[in-house]
Amino acid sequence: MAPQVIDHRGGVWSIAVPIPDNPLGHTLVHLLETDRGPVLIDTGWDDPASWDTLTAGITACGFAPADVHGVVLTHHHPDHHGLSAKVRETSGAWVAMHAADTAVVRRTRAAEPGQWLDYLVAKLTAAGAPNAHMEPLRAARARRRERQLPGPRPALPDRDIAPGELLALPGRRVRAIWTPGHTPGHVCLHLEEAHPANPSPTPTGFGRLFSGDHLLPSITPHIGLYEDPDDVPSDLLDRGDPLGDYLDSLERVARLAPAEVLPAHQHAFPDAAGRVRELIAHHEERLADLRALLREPLTAWQLATAMQWNRPWERIPPGSRNIAVSEAEAHLRHLIKRGHAEPVPGSDPVHYVAV
Ligand SMILES: [Zn+2]
Ligand SMILES: [Zn+2]
Repeated sequence: MAPQVIDHRGGVWSIAVPIPDNPLGHTLVHLLETDRGPVLIDTGWDDPASWDTLTAGITACGFAPADVHGVVLTHHHPDHHGLSAKVRETSGAWVAMHAADTAVVRRTRAAEPGQWLDYLVAKLTAAGAPNAHMEPLRAARARRRERQLPGPRPALPDRDIAPGELLALPGRRVRAIWTPGHTPGHVCLHLEEAHPANPSPTPTGFGRLFSGDHLLPSITPHIGLYEDPDDVPSDLLDRGDPLGDYLDSLERVARLAPAEVLPAHQHAFPDAAGRVRELIAHHEERLADLRALLREPLTAWQLATAMQWNRPWERIPPGSRNIAVSEAEAHLRHLIKRGHAEPVPGSDPVHYVAV
């Protein structure tokens, strides 16, 4: 099958690289032509069919996979960073990532088998998850320990992306915009060149924005905690405020007012500021709903079960429930930072209440 490649003009293409068995469908890997050869923004999921699509796509853009000069990653997630090692092996390309996400990659590579599951069990127990949810997790942890199954080994990047600075891309002007929230080191990349279809820069900004997962046309990216298997659950509420970071990062990209957004999923779209307003309104509404639910003290688990999701809680599979709890905790933490909620002293598992 011919790869789905879109020529966005001005030396920018997108290649739809499939994500196997995932409702998202594909990652849009962007190819940017530079004076030293093509540079990829993200690489896609590590799977043989995805690799074939990526290389066929690079060829369809008029380049050879062996000529890739560099890889710039919006963040560390496997649908973005998965194929980076293969690209580097094939072409000798450098691989660049923000240091905060590189730190996550380093910890993932160093984690002992079962360490992530240990963390998850401790965290969900502290969140008040019921036994029926915990039993399969404990069993999975025991199996993993027994067989010493190794975890994933994502590629270690060899360059840092410095926030606010121009990337070293010969012949192109691309500035890294640090947009923490979805991950601690997520970056958007602002192509500071006149859009071929819209050559007049506006006073507030211009160009195009490679937005990764930060800004998508109709999906709300997952905002959970910046989870770390080295954490102990009692530290959780002291470590950062990802939702607060995300809301600040949204404002930051709205101020750039790019002529077009090129996201890593779905499709390109024009009105960055309009989409930012929708996303901020969505999270504010959620925060208000949560605050109302917290009129009576609830654990993080109880809060997650009471929140609105895209389907009833009973129909959410266990793995997605873990993600939902993390999303509830990120909102909870932001309410605490705003002074709108607090833990109930002496409660175990910890209950939270609106103030
Ligand atoms: Zn992601
Ligand atoms: Zn993604």
